[in-house]
Amino acid sequence: MSKVAVYPGSFDPITFGHIDIAKRALKLFDHLIIMISVNPSKKTLFTAQERKWLVEQALLDEKDRIKVVINEDLTVNKARELGATHIVRGLRAVTDFEYEFQMTLTNRKLSPTLETIFLMPSEAYSYISSRMVKEISILG
Ligand code: ADP
Repeated sequence: MSKVAVYPGSFDPITFGHIDIAKRALKLFDHLIIMISVNPSKKTLFTAQERKWLVEQALLDEKDRIKVVINEDLTVNKARELGATHIVRGLRAVTDFEYEFQMTLTNRKLSPTLETIFLMPSEAYSYISSRMVKEISILG
């Protein structure tokens, strides 16, 4: 049976950090489903369709093993529906830890069999965030 993981996030927009994590996840899983999370309380620069297209273009060379979906449901529900056994998240620095810790334990409560794993990016991408990329771009 093939091993499937989901990689959920805003991807607003996808960065080299996200790409690094997705490629590392492909060393562990046969298929990776990148989940563009639609969170009505979070304002994004790009629409979900635009974010999906950008992810697909950025990972075109892995298109046989990566699928991109838009998710309006709870991550754990969608992961289960898609047959995934793991959630992949990236950890950049200690600042990511608290939020990720809280979310992992919440997801575990909701879906105890779905395991979350954390991957660290290459040092060169560890400081990159979608927020900074947007700010620099907007300010020219
Ligand atoms: P979210 O709003 O769910 O945090 P993001 O698109 O900001 O969505 O991030 C999705 C995941 O990718 C998170 O686990 C985040 O820590 C990780 N991530 C974001 N940027 C990087 C990076 N430069 N290196 C490694 N992981 C990253």
